[in-house]
Amino acid sequence: AINRNLHDVQGKAKVSFEFFPPKTEQMEQTLWQSIERLAPVAPSFVSVTYGANSGERDRTHDIIKSIKQRTGLIAAPHLTCVDASVDELKSIARDYWNSGIRHIVALRGDLPPSATEKPALYASDLVEILRSVADFDISVAAYPEVHPEAPNAQFDLLNLKRKVDAGASRAITQFFFDVEKFLRYRDRCAAIGIDVDIIPGILPVTNFQQLIKFANLTNVAVPNWMHKAYEGLDHDPTTRNLVAANIAMEMVKVLSREGIDQFHFYTLNRSELSYAICHMLGVRPQVQSAQTA
Ligand code: FAD
Repeated sequence: AINRNLHDVQGKAKVSFEFFPPKTEQMEQTLWQSIERLAPVAPSFVSVTYGANSGERDRTHDIIKSIKQRTGLIAAPHLTCVDASVDELKSIARDYWNSGIRHIVALRGDLPPSATEKPALYASDLVEILRSVADFDISVAAYPEVHPEAPNAQFDLLNLKRKVDAGASRAITQFFFDVEKFLRYRDRCAAIGIDVDIIPGILPVTNFQQLIKFANLTNVAVPNWMHKAYEGLDHDPTTRNLVAANIAMEMVKVLSREGIDQFHFYTLNRSELSYAICHMLGVRPQVQSAQTA
């Protein structure tokens, strides 16, 4: 019944893809192959992460510029505020605006492990700073399973509301595997008057061992059924890929049935799985009208 369940969003779903700056020449090649493969499905935007405290903001900016030039897609840099002053952030924002960038994913960034004091700026402050510079389209992060530093779920929800009230126009969630948790979170957002789209962040999991480490740090639950699904596959990447595709497609199917029609893919710079899931959603390369003209 997957076809029937996906029927409602066929052709209507919007997708976006997230990439990260490659560290080697070979990784750079993989990134560009992925961008070229995914660009024809016409995502609403693509974004490129920036490692807070990495001092490599220029690399994010360079990739964003190249994506814009090569594909014409809306390319959104991630920007963190934990490692910059208000004046620096304003100047970065002006530079972005002057080079034609209109969409920014505004984040606080993770605190360095050595941090002892509360950060001077949170993401809601960054949204205000960006707004004070220009009329950016701003996305922010949301946490269906609560951000690890938040004292409680309500505090974290109100934090998202502060970011939206400051001028964010959509929220992208941390990845998750329990669809029910996402749906309850969406309902709680609506109940406190958050009226922007809460876009699920979809992570097709090809490296399960890495996921376990990352999930612990980010407070994301990895359900037992997932442990079972990847059992015995540590040395079998082909089967892991198929399992990953199956799980992500199933999630997207259930979310579609619940009325979700926008999906953000954590691609990890690979195109295969995101492309296949988009295909199942009916998000496919546009047929050139020149063929029929
Ligand atoms: P905030 O919204 O500022 O929240 C951080 C924490 O502080 C929360 O627990 C919140 O409840 C709490 N809080 C907020 N305001 C206050 C206050 N006034 N007093 C006390 N506590 C407060 N990281 C990167 O380094 N680079 C990236 O490119 C990147 N991209 C991401 C993309 C997405 C879609 C997501 C979901 C996360 C991304 N991250 C990235 C990770 C993110 O930077 C971390 O999760 C970070 O710890 C929190 O960022 P935030 O923007 O959610 O912060």
